[in-house]
Order: sequence, then C-alpha cells, then structure tokens
Amino acid sequence: MNESPPEHTQIVVIGGGIMGCSTAYHLTKNGCRDVILLERAKLTSGTTWHSAAQVRQLRSTESLTRLVQHSVELYSSLEAETGQATGWKQTGSLSIATNPDRLTHIRRQASLSRAFGIGAEEIPVAEASGKWPLMRSNDVIGAVHSPSDGRVSPSDICAALVKGATSRGLRVFEDTPVTGIRTQNGRVAAVQTAQGEITCESIINCAGLWGHRIAGMAGVAAPLHACEHFYLLTEPLDSITEPLPTLSDHDGHLYLRDEGGGLLVGCFEPKGKPLDLDQLPEDFAFGLLPEDWEHLEPILANALHRVPELEQIGMKMLLNGPESFTPDDRFLLGESPELRGFFLGCGMCSVGIATGGGAGRVLAEWVLSGEPSMDLWPVDVRRFALAQNTLRTLRERAPETLALHYAVGFPGRQHQTARNLRLSPLHSRLEAAGAEFGVRMGWERPRWFNPEKRPTAPKLSFGKPGWDTLHAEEHRAAREAVVLFDQSTFGKLLVQGRDAESVLQWLCANDVSKAQHRVVYTGMLNQRGGYESDLTLMRLDSESFLLITGTGQPVRDQDWIRRNLHADEHVTVADITSAYAVISIAGPNSRELLNRVSPDDFSNAGFPYYTHRRVEVGPALVRAARLSYVGELGWELTIPSESAVPVFDDLCEAGGGLGLKLAGTEALSSLRIEKGYRAWDHEIGPDDTPLQAGLEFAVCFNKSASFLGKKTLLRQQTEGVSRRLVQFTLADSNAHPHSGEPIWWQDTLVGRTTSGAFGHTLGCAIALGYIRIAEQGLDAMLSTGGFEIEIACQRFPAQATLEAAYDSENLKPRM
Ligand SMILES: Cc1cc2nc3c(=O)[nH]c(=O)nc-3n(C[C@H](O)[C@H](O)[C@H](O)COP(=O)(O)OP(=O)(O)OC[C@H]3O[C@@H](n4cnc5c(N)ncnc54)[C@H](O)[C@@H]3O)c2cc1C
Repeated sequence: MNESPPEHTQIVVIGGGIMGCSTAYHLTKNGCRDVILLERAKLTSGTTWHSAAQVRQLRSTESLTRLVQHSVELYSSLEAETGQATGWKQTGSLSIATNPDRLTHIRRQASLSRAFGIGAEEIPVAEASGKWPLMRSNDVIGAVHSPSDGRVSPSDICAALVKGATSRGLRVFEDTPVTGIRTQNGRVAAVQTAQGEITCESIINCAGLWGHRIAGMAGVAAPLHACEHFYLLTEPLDSITEPLPTLSDHDGHLYLRDEGGGLLVGCFEPKGKPLDLDQLPEDFAFGLLPEDWEHLEPILANALHRVPELEQIGMKMLLNGPESFTPDDRFLLGESPELRGFFLGCGMCSVGIATGGGAGRVLAEWVLSGEPSMDLWPVDVRRFALAQNTLRTLRERAPETLALHYAVGFPGRQHQTARNLRLSPLHSRLEAAGAEFGVRMGWERPRWFNPEKRPTAPKLSFGKPGWDTLHAEEHRAAREAVVLFDQSTFGKLLVQGRDAESVLQWLCANDVSKAQHRVVYTGMLNQRGGYESDLTLMRLDSESFLLITGTGQPVRDQDWIRRNLHADEHVTVADITSAYAVISIAGPNSRELLNRVSPDDFSNAGFPYYTHRRVEVGPALVRAARLSYVGELGWELTIPSESAVPVFDDLCEAGGGLGLKLAGTEALSSLRIEKGYRAWDHEIGPDDTPLQAGLEFAVCFNKSASFLGKKTLLRQQTEGVSRRLVQFTLADSNAHPHSGEPIWWQDTLVGRTTSGAFGHTLGCAIALGYIRIAEQGLDAMLSTGGFEIEIACQRFPAQATLEAAYDSENLKPRM
C-alpha cells in the first residue's frame, strides 16, 4: 500500500469506508482488475469504524430488502473466502409497540417481511420479555421478532472485503486525499491528488458525508448532509450472559443491544443535529464529535424507563459520530445524470453497514455494465431535482430525515422542512382555495382542498384519516360533475432534431410516428423489457415531440434518452417543465366547461379521444389533449406558464354552475386505482414489463422500426408471463390497503399489492398488485377465487379481476 498511485486506471473508488470497500470488492469479483481505491486518511476512518453495525433486513421496498439480504449472505461467508473474521452474529431483532399506531406499523412490517421472505413474526409480549429480560414490558402492547437479523464488526468487514479485493488486483492508497476532478466533454477524465493526476474512465464517489464535497469537485449534485449521531455504552452488567437480539423501541426513539458485556443504547432522536462539514478538521480521522448530554436527556429518560437497571450501571461513553443523510432517508446510488462516468455510492442514512454489502454489489454491476441489474429507483440519484441540492435545503432537511427514521410509517406522511422549493404558477391561487400541500421532487402539490377549514385530524392514519370526507367529495365530483387538477409539476421534455422520430421509435414501445394529432401513451423499456418510464407523447411538427412524464421522472427520462443517443444522431432533449403549466379537467361536465371558455370544438367527433391540438382557452392558446388519468371524459391543457393564472381563473369562473371542484393528488390516486390505471414506481418500474402490467395495448409490435426491449416482450408473448398485475376489491370496511401488503391465494403467498386506496365510487377498498401465476393458470386462479390480502397480520378476503371494477366508458388509450 506504499507505492505511488498510477498515472492511469480504469476505475477510481474514492473513500475507504464500507461503501468504497464493498464496491471495490465487487468490481474485482466481477473481473475488473484495473481499479484503485483512494482514501484520504486510513480505511474505515470516516463513519464506518464507530458504527453500531446492526444488520436489519426489512426495508420499505423489495429491492432495498434484497440488498440487505445480499449483505447478510456476504457477511456470513466472507470469512470462509478470505480467512478474515467479520464478526457476523445472527442475534435477531425484536420490535416493540407501546401504542396502537406503532402496533399496526410493526404488524405491517411483519406482513411485509413475509412478502419479502424474511420471516418476522408477531410474538406474545411475554415471549418478547423472555428474549429481553432487562426490558420493562408493562406498557408494551405488541412485539415482532425477526430471527435472521444480526450484527457485524464494521472494521473487520472492511478488512475482509479489502483482502478479497486486493487478492484479485485492487490497489489501495491510504493518506491520499482527492483534491480535484477533471472532466472533459461531459465525461470524467481524471482525479487529482497531491501525488499527481490519475486519468480514468470512471469515478465512484463513496466518500460518505464528504460525498457532497467530492461531487462539487466534479460540478454535480449529491444531495446529502451530515448530522450528529449518538449511542451510549454502559459498563458491563452481570445479567447479560449471552448475545441479545437488538431491541427496537421506536416509540422511545431507541435501539438497544449488548456490547462488551454492557449495553449499547442508540437513538434516532425526534430532532437531529445537523453538522456542517467545515466544523470537522481537515485531518478528521477515527474522530468523534463532542458529547452532548443535554441534547440526549429526553432519550436517556426513555432508556431508563425501558431498562430500569440502567440506573444502577455506570456509563462508559456517549459516542457522537457523524453520518450523512439524504432528503428522503434513502441513500444515493448510480451514475450522475450530469456527468458521464461519475457514480455515487454515498449518503447512507445510517444503514451503510446493513446495506453496504448489497449496495456495493449492484453499484459495481452498474459501473461495469452501464445500467443497474434490478429496480433501484428508490435509491437512484436521478430521483432528485437540482433544487434539492442546496446546502441550505440539505441542512434544514437532514435532521428531520434522521428523526423520521423511527417514525410510524403512516401512508402519506409529508416532510415538514425544506418546503416551498418549487411552486406551480398556480400555487397562490391553490393556497387561497384551501389546498393542503404535499411534496414530490421538491414540488408542492395539492393533496386535497379544504376551503371551509373543516377539522381534518388525524391527518395521518393507517385507517380513514380526518380528511376522508373532503377526499370523497373530490372523488365523487370527478365521477359526477367536473374537477380541476393542477398538474403543472408533470415533467415536460422537448425532443427535437432530424433524428427525433427514429430515436423515439427505438426508445418507445408504441408507434410514435402516429403522434401528429394523436396522443401516444407508451413505455420506454430497457433490454429486459422493463419500464424505464411511461409517458404520453405528442408530435408538434416533423422534428419535435413533446413528452409529458410524471412529476418524479423528468431527470431520469432525459438521462435515459440522452444516454441512448449515438454520436451521429441529431437530437436534443430539453427539460421545459417550468415553461408550461398543466391543468387537467375531468368529469362528465368537462366538455361543457371547456365549451364555456373556448370557441373550439370539443365534441366527440371534433375532438376524439386520445387526440391533441392547439385551442383557445380563456385568453390563451394552449395545447389540449383529450385524456384523463381518472377514467372520465377529460382534457389535459398544457399552458405557457405566464398564462396559467388567467386560464385557471376563467375555468373556475365558468365552472360555477357545473359543480366544478378543485381536486388534489389523493383523489387522483383513488380515481386512477378504481379505474385500474397503472402508476410509475407503483405498478410499473424497471422490473415490470408491459405484458406483466397488462399494458400490451400500448406496445406496437408491428411498427416498421424495432424498439428496445422487443425481444424480451416477444419471448414473453410466446412463453407467457409468470406474474401479472390484477385489481382487487375488498368488501370488509376494516380493510385499508396502502401498498406492499402480501397477497394470498388459496393459502399460498402469491404476491403483494402495489397501490391501495378507498374507492369512493365503488364504495369499498381497492388495490392493485402483482400475483405469481400458479400452475393452474391465471384464468383458473381468478375464476376459483380465494384471494386474501394481509394487512397488518390480518387477512381480508379480496375479489381479483383483470379488468377494472370501475369502467364507465371503457376508456383505454388504444392507438
Ligand atoms: C453512531 C452511529 C451508529 C450507526 N449504526 C449503524 C447500524 O447499526 N447499522 C448500519 O447499517 N449503519 C449504522 N451507521 C451508519 C453507518 O456506519 C454508515 O452508513 C456507514 O459507515 C457509511 O459508510 P461510508 O462508506 O458511506 O462512509 P465512511 O465510512 O465515512 O467512508 C467514507 C470515506 O471517504 C473518505 N474520504 C472523504 N473525502 C475524501 C477525499 N477527498 N479523498 C479520499 N477519501 C476521502 C473518508 O476519509 C472516509 O474514510 C451508524 C452510524 C453512526 C454514526
């Protein structure tokens, strides 16, 4: 490790914590020999060395859970491969609840763990006490035990990973800080160090809480910020004679386990402490932050309550270490959309040890093959907008991220900090109309409207929330009268150039050549036939296409199109999201509403379903597309931003006698689930194909040009699919599906839900979800019935259908 760094290498990994070591290990495991790791100080000297190093497998999504499952496999087998012990101990974990919402939360987790194959089970409180005899349990109302969780020694894991990797060619350079990054023609070119410049093809930023600074050297975003993070170590206790499962008392913001014969008491306090990077000395290595007993006082009181014996034992130390947090408590993975060859594996949000093994593996695959091997959207760096990367925003959000780590996982919870970053041109109007805002990709979006300020508590609930009546009124107005949604936050991409049509024909599964007056609904698919995005597309002229995509998707979509362009193709892709507002009008009275504000023809013959054209609305010229996402007659109006307010005002004025209501995303969601419309990140993502999602109608197999993913789809057409999306209705009024609930068929676990809501038109709970097709075949499964959806460990009978239970006009965007 003493030689000088080379002048050139294929891949440079920056940072020698768990992420850098794991990524380097997997790069070499995949056959890459030309890789170096540069560490500012010594390996593990950042956050990794002092980690509490719990490995809990259950995460909020299947792909994140699979990453931790891979970590467990790796950590339990590395010693055999490298001869270096890793300290892996399978001690299990125990979650307790002291209030009904937490009980629902941990039961939902137990259900989710069944769906993910982890096998956590609810156990009686007395049994939980047996597993954790030091615990006060008279206020505990429920417990879930997860036997396969464990813990490791973080430094030993890194030593083993580096030993494995160096045996296959990795070279490690400690005491070698990266001081700069040189780029050329939109690609990384070299990293700079005091020992000189190293030219390279790829750089992987695994610099932990320094990740934002390293990204800054390359001129790109890495939205993360450091916080102080605490745990306490006690003197030994005689009563601890064997390893204890990690005890999660999240109502008390605590986790506890044995350590060195005493206890380790860690926390995610209700308000974290942000840490500015310039507070750390340049030579910060194996360093800690000052103790802060005052900050921890309320948590200590909770700990003393949970483990009364703590009163009797001395405290060895209060450890305060820095850790990085992102705006949504999920780490950053993947290639930056701003710079080719620059990858991120940082901002680990206090799950770096648990996830590092798996995250390093998929990141290495991503670097080597150019794309991820599975759906990694929850951690994909492209989920953030640039507006979310300012230091002020990150500093404000990070403490809330830390605090929410242990919050009850209510559906629809919204962040309170770093709000109002991106506002629709209609924002003030919507606010004045009583909008309750939620946030997506930094945008404020109305969730529902409460013009009369009716009481809406509780806003958060696993069952019916206090705003359910307001939601129901908006839902019904869409079915019975007319509603207006502000959808200005939709991503809008302008794809232009001589080769625009041929490029889009290759990237889109539907036939874009027909888009002159027709709206084309299409997926952009990957090689595996999975969705990289779904969007609608309108041709503006022979060389220009307007792509309308979801609020969270424009960065990803733009990146996907750009990375698939060949050097000789003449195409530009511009994100024009902010230049246009979108107002959607939906419901049986929507035609009449438009007739009142426009001289144009909105009749069925004059403006057929799934067509688009320029029309006058109020004082403005707008592009109208006849479609709706709620399964009713409707139009989406794409309006120059500067005209959004006058158009909105005219529509509102004209809508008075027609029962016009403003509606928010909650109604949009329940309406679309009733109608069976799929949503990105729910029903469709990189691992779901149109055939599995039941969207074959939006694939044009016989268009003249071929398209990406076609081969896979043709194979699936011949062989049939092994899983299929279906819709469920649940008659039981106590059933409240949200998503992620296990689906049972004839007592066999066959899948899990992807979306859920209350269908106010159908008058029952509704859900969408994928099921594995049993030997008997899909038709037999559906006709036999016997489906159940497990919500918080309770199974509810469900009726499954392929077609939507609500289908007023059989509206399908066929081409
Ligand atoms: C108190 C505490 C308890 C925790 N408990 C758990 C737990 O129970 N389970 C769990 O999974 N996670 C836990 N974590 C989180 C976990 O430890 C981290 O997520 C993980 O260690 C982060 O690893 P990393 O590789 O991303 O960052 P780091 O370990 O910080 O590594 C980044 C490296 O980059 C180097 N670097 C920085 N700048 C440069 C530069 N310019 N040039 C070269 N190198 C550079 C740094 O020196 C550092 O070594 C805990 C964290 C804390 C603070």
